[in-house]
Amino acid sequence: MSDKKFICDFCFKDQDVVALIIASPSVDSHRDGSQSGICNECVALSMNILLDRYEEARKIVTFSATADTAK
Ligand SMILES: [Zn+2]
Repeated sequence: MSDKKFICDFCFKDQDVVALIIASPSVDSHRDGSQSGICNECVALSMNILLDRYEEARKIVTFSATADTAK
């Protein structure tokens, strides 16, 4: 198998069970050859924590999201 498998480093789910994994910018891979990353579920969770805790983050994220979804 030459395809690299992506694993979420937060919840350890792999690409087959989550919608999306964002690859880590690090070139490091796990011992089994899988690549580090973070899944959409953990990103969503992290976003909620950030939005709850940091007013400044809320402004930044809201601005970016608005720019991305503008039609
Ligand atoms: Zn995850």
